[in-house]
Amino acid sequence: MGGKTFPLTKERLEELAGRFPTPFYLYDEAAIRANVKKLLKAFSVFPSYREHFAVKALPNPFILKVLAGEGLGADCSSGPELTLADMAGIRGEAVMFSSNETPASEYQAARRLGAVINLDDITHIEYLEKHAGIPELVSCRYNPGPLKGGNAIIGKPEEAKYGFTREQIIRGFALLRDKGAKRFALHTMVASNELKLGYHLETARILFELAVEIKNKTGISLEFANLGGGVGIPYRPEEEAVDWGDLAAGVKKLYDGILVPAGLGGLGIRTEYGRPITGPYGWLVARAVHAKSVYREYIGLDACMADLMRPGLYGAYHHITVAGKEDAPLAETYDVVGSLCENNDKFAVQRRLPKIDTGDFVIIHDAGAHGRAMGFNYNGKLRCGELLLRQDGSVVRIRRPETAEDYFATLDLPALAGFETAGQGAKNPKPG
Ligand SMILES: *Cc1c(COP(=O)(O)O)cnc(C)c1O
Repeated sequence: MGGKTFPLTKERLEELAGRFPTPFYLYDEAAIRANVKKLLKAFSVFPSYREHFAVKALPNPFILKVLAGEGLGADCSSGPELTLADMAGIRGEAVMFSSNETPASEYQAARRLGAVINLDDITHIEYLEKHAGIPELVSCRYNPGPLKGGNAIIGKPEEAKYGFTREQIIRGFALLRDKGAKRFALHTMVASNELKLGYHLETARILFELAVEIKNKTGISLEFANLGGGVGIPYRPEEEAVDWGDLAAGVKKLYDGILVPAGLGGLGIRTEYGRPITGPYGWLVARAVHAKSVYREYIGLDACMADLMRPGLYGAYHHITVAGKEDAPLAETYDVVGSLCENNDKFAVQRRLPKIDTGDFVIIHDAGAHGRAMGFNYNGKLRCGELLLRQDGSVVRIRRPETAEDYFATLDLPALAGFETAGQGAKNPKPG
């Protein structure tokens, strides 16, 4: 139903689970590549275009290598994300470093990789100069404030901690030039998981008008404008994806109407999409291990919100199918739950589904971005591993599941044996 598919049959899953026990994430390389090809073709209408995949969405260097093979760069926001890009061979200006509250050590790491630093605040100009030096090419992040309406996940730009105000960004570019920068870029990111095309076009219009204002007020012709991320995916079967062709055509119309007449017809376009690049092409595959009948009917999985926290955190909808029962009638109403000691550990609440038997494969769709990446270890839960379905149909493991040893690895255990506490309880003052 609803056009939500999974690339493997139940038989193939059974065989796979023999080698790699559930739960696991599975990503579809061919589908990711086909999607990226469509994106690049649509945006080839601009004089220069690059998509910097938002590493935080799926921070696995195998995936980054696949994306780099299609010509994508990376968007990183921390030192370890820069390292992941480097592991995948993505370096230099193919890397955008869009961070906030950035420590000096991370600006230095970004400089070493030759990444394009995207400053989040006017005070970071002097901070960067002091700790890492001003590079030839610098980007600044714009926060349009009251100019732009709100979005469910990111909220109102006015209340968002990111970016420069309009007045600051014009002053900032002039200051960067005085300090030796030669090439300049503009960035914004004001939405998350937004499916409305108009919202993204509005963002492009605001950026393009600002690029013209920057040219008029400072004489600086920007090298590129980065439209950020935030393009949503249709988590619900009845929702519609943002079409890459419609998006690129809409942005091109604004480009021709605003930038070209102002003499900015050479401006490059950059994007930092994460979710719409890999989101629909990744699944969390779990097994039903328990069925519980109390005031409601519960199906307990071997995965939990430590593996995928979006439903628990945001009440987000993720479509669910059952392997081999894709066409079965939706005869039951279940809460599909994990094993965490938190009542919001529910992948689905009061969802109509086919009758589920223990041992069935329960497939959670659209988990290819902000899925495994947002996992955590609360409750001593160990996060599951990741598999990649290669283009030739083979499956490779690209991350093993966590072990208890991983969980204990950060404790200073050698000191535990000599850590004396016996008999002190009575003498110590009460805490607090
Ligand atoms: C999260 C983020 C992205 C990617 O967002 P998606 O919704 O995954 O496309 C891009 N740029 C920045 C600065 C981000 O914080």
